[in-house]
Amino acid sequence: MLTSLHAQPEDKILALMGMFRADDRPNKIDLGVGVYKNAEGQTPIMHAVKNAEKQLWEQEQTKSYTGLIGDAGYHKAMSDMVLGGVVDADRLAFAHTPGGTGAIRQIMELVKMADTGATIWLSDPTWANHPSIIKHVGLPQTTYTYFDNETRSVNFDGMMDSLQGVKSGDVVLLHGCCHNPTGANLNNEQWALVADLLLEKGAIPFVDIAYQGFGDGLEEDAYGTRLLAQKFPEMLIAASCSKNFGIYRERAGIVIAISPDAAASKITQANLSYLNRQNFSFPPDHGARLVTMVLTDDALRAEWKAELESVRTGMLNIRQMLADALRAESGSDRFGFLAEHRGMFSRVGATPEQVQKLREEHAIYMVGDSRMNIAGITEKTVPILAKAIIAVGV
Ligand code: PMP
Repeated sequence: MLTSLHAQPEDKILALMGMFRADDRPNKIDLGVGVYKNAEGQTPIMHAVKNAEKQLWEQEQTKSYTGLIGDAGYHKAMSDMVLGGVVDADRLAFAHTPGGTGAIRQIMELVKMADTGATIWLSDPTWANHPSIIKHVGLPQTTYTYFDNETRSVNFDGMMDSLQGVKSGDVVLLHGCCHNPTGANLNNEQWALVADLLLEKGAIPFVDIAYQGFGDGLEEDAYGTRLLAQKFPEMLIAASCSKNFGIYRERAGIVIAISPDAAASKITQANLSYLNRQNFSFPPDHGARLVTMVLTDDALRAEWKAELESVRTGMLNIRQMLADALRAESGSDRFGFLAEHRGMFSRVGATPEQVQKLREEHAIYMVGDSRMNIAGITEKTVPILAKAIIAVGV
């Protein structure tokens, strides 16, 4: 039986990680995988998380199963963080999932179970796992215009034009903030225009929010998600705690589903419970419990918010420094977009050949579409990177 299986395409980002590890040049720079790194190149455990862990070690009395859809305290803490109380609690249904990826997968399965013939609309480009999960689940998908490769900003007219093709009941996936891989985001006015268009079309928004707090701030980054949540009778949200709590390996994510009313929400909840049961039964508890503790304890929350803010401003600082260095190297403003982008990524606009040259000649590793992990850049490497980007002809 096993010999009948076909080989699977290699995950490009994971393959890049392997190449980086195998490279023995001491000055190599990793701008590949989407993991936050501080100025020393470490992915540290946040102090607030470590402190919560200490408390948990003292207090935890059992390792018995948590609830099938996770703990109600986690649902409340996360929906408060993402939605800020703009939706009545009786319209919300939840599933605690292993990471944001688990939430995306469960949402796609929920759409499949609803069996309404919905097409899933994805931004072009998007995080590579979106189309592959949708394909795996077996749902129809298509793309909407999103990024302008020339200006490296959102092609908003193109986006609105292509969303004209959305049919009633289709699901439109939007990145809540810090678009991956481009770094280009909708402004508040554009969110409102997209919301109105999707309402008119009868679409169901699906917001993937994996970097809340990494862009303009914890509340600011939830603007679009909350706006949609106030306007739409139905909405799907996949949120991840991997980045903003720095707990990647603990696998804490959540599905938040908004139904039109309390009665419908009960059924949505039953379906989400069913999906958890079929796929993995009980979710992992540790990361979500830490998140709940951090979000609901005043001292831990204050500590975490300060740490998150310094992560955010550190990345903004690097963005500005790189944009300035590239202005000096290129003698032009054409890299100014780097300071405008938000979040952990920017697509710098190199061709695949230039990306290869950066790797082979400069030991700089970025994803093939020229997505750079901004957190992989330090004050020391800014000038090296700027010189290399110009040297390969970007
Ligand atoms: N959505 C997007 C856009 C992401 O970039 C990521 C992480 N790379 C996720 C969801 C989910 O991350 P995780 O499963 O690690 O929580």
